Amino acid sequence: MVQQIFPRLIVHGGAGPWIEDNHNQALDGVRAAARAGWAVLQAGGSALDAVEAATIVLEDDPLFDAGVGSFLNDQGEVEMDALITDGDQLDFGAIAAVKHVRNPIMLARRVMTNSAHRFFVAEGADLLAIEYGLERVANLSFVTDTEWRAFAARVAKDGPPEPGRGTVGAVALDAAGHIASATSTGGSPNKKKGRVGDVPIYGAGGYSDDRHGGASSTGVGENIMRHLLSKRVVDLIGAGSLADAAAQAGVDAVASRIPSPEVGVIALDASGHYGAAHTTGHMPIGWIDSSGAVHAGMTA
Ligand code: ASP
Repeated sequence: MVQQIFPRLIVHGGAGPWIEDNHNQALDGVRAAARAGWAVLQAGGSALDAVEAATIVLEDDPLFDAGVGSFLNDQGEVEMDALITDGDQLDFGAIAAVKHVRNPIMLARRVMTNSAHRFFVAEGADLLAIEYGLERVANLSFVTDTEWRAFAARVAKDGPPEPGRGTVGAVALDAAGHIASATSTGGSPNKKKGRVGDVPIYGAGGYSDDRHGGASSTGVGENIMRHLLSKRVVDLIGAGSLADAAAQAGVDAVASRIPSPEVGVIALDASGHYGAAHTTGHMPIGWIDSSGAVHAGMTA
């Protein structure tokens, strides 16, 4: 008898010190993203289409540090990174330091499916977006009023604490048993021009393998890269852990070597269990339960 697979989807809006004022808006954002991804899965769509759809919603939401709402770098520019992973083919597409493509995750997807390569950066990546007919916008159009004010305060070094907006990500399992992940970010606030974090690094910002599960990471990219956090979590699932234990063990492993690493991860295993863990104050997550209902919370 063929076992029927009930699709699953989990999204995150970034691990960080989220201020209370933003909690409701963050929860609305992750719910909207989970719904968008779920609509794809319910219609029989693929995990890749679902994670892309969910991530686009979060990139377009100015609350999150991805697409519109991205943090500015130290030169007052937005430079964005994104990664999509395909657990069926063990494949990925990545872009880094793009400045003009409206939805970076759409470009990462096309790098994987349409190009002979897997990772494009900066101007070359933005040029590729034109070739693929993706929407191109002015760099300024990613910058919200909130971020201009935060940038001015950072430059003057007299601002209130950062509100903790975050990177976005999604992991999905489709009815065919395929698992995909997507992760997208504007990076860290005030990063140096040209700095790239974990997000576009396969195995760090995201990873998926149909045999085991998938993961998408968030938080201080330098610490995530050092531990290839997403790959580590999927490997732990492969070694027999359920997604929640694997996510916690992955984050604990980073914390055992780096004090206060400020990292988080969402995970999904091939049998449909969810996991989420973080060392930060909060990490908004949204997910779909086995009846198809949408849930959201500010913490794991
Ligand atoms: N991981 C992202 C980066 O370091 C930032 C974040 O997740 O908040 O670029």
